[in-house]
Amino acid sequence: MSLESVFNETWSDDHQSGVVAVVGRPNVGKSTLINAILGQKIAIATPKPQTTRRVQLGIYSTEMMQILLTDTPGLHAPRNTLGEYMMAVAEKSLKDADVILWILDVSEPPQKSDSYIAETIQAARGSAKLIFVYNKVDLAGDNPDFSAFEALIEHDDAIAISALKKQGVDALLEAVKVHIPLGPRYYPIDQVSDLNMRFITAEIVREKVIINTEKEIPHSVAVEVTEYKDREERTDIYATIHVEKESQKGIIIGKGGKMIKIIGSLARQDLEKMLDHQVFLDLHVKVLKNWRTNEQFMRRVGYTLPKEDDN
Ligand code: GDP
Ligand code: MG
Repeated sequence: MSLESVFNETWSDDHQSGVVAVVGRPNVGKSTLINAILGQKIAIATPKPQTTRRVQLGIYSTEMMQILLTDTPGLHAPRNTLGEYMMAVAEKSLKDADVILWILDVSEPPQKSDSYIAETIQAARGSAKLIFVYNKVDLAGDNPDFSAFEALIEHDDAIAISALKKQGVDALLEAVKVHIPLGPRYYPIDQVSDLNMRFITAEIVREKVIINTEKEIPHSVAVEVTEYKDREERTDIYATIHVEKESQKGIIIGKGGKMIKIIGSLARQDLEKMLDHQVFLDLHVKVLKNWRTNEQFMRRVGYTLPKEDDN
């Protein structure tokens, strides 16, 4: 990370800063937790798995501490270019971290892929501290038994939370703080993300598509913001939703354009809330066969592979 950001702020000598990697199977609540910590919508949280495709930096700041949160794609065996990309991102975020938060869904027993994640953490963690986060305790009954999770891998701490109900989040931050080294404030105290608005916009549109369409859609959608114009009274945004098949295009547009209208309207409402500003959002749907193995396209929409020397 670069120390070059220039801003007029001071911090005390005992200020702490560091990187916290948030990992775990798809759907365990990583995005929900990051949103709970940051108190606003940065990562997208949806009920469908594997919807996070890129390291997303959320920044949590207090007077005394700044932590940079990376939301990683689900760790799983590579299947295509997108899968390999997701793996590379996940491994890199572990290597760079001061603390790894492994989010575990305690509403169901550990899964086979949890053992795979344990191996990946073991191999890639470097000197990072590992904290188990037992999430969804609101679904786990009165006397939850975490022993099957405890046995997964040696860890430095364990905290039970409900990201959805925002329970235990403060205790978790306290546990993280213990392992964050002394360091400067890298970003202004009021900045919550360094993702640019184009990417956030694309993620919001993608979230609305996933929430509102059938099962086959999620993995086949890439959203590209083609124009983003901040004007005084309104922000004008033009975006293209790329899918792999004509049939998917039909689903997203819907009968008489009904579905695309819903998607556009929901996305616009989120954007207006976030920007506190009127938004005009224009959506197009295009078919681009096999985009998931098209590296050039993936780069263009922001799913770029992390470079080895890119610290
Ligand atoms: P991710 O794939 O790990 O980022 O998971 P998400 O944050 O997108 O969450 C997946 C689903 O689990 C969503 O429907 C969330 O609302 C739900 N969820 C997350 N945390 C909790 C929790 O503490 N309790 C309950 N009951 N549901 C949760
Ligand atoms: Mg997520």
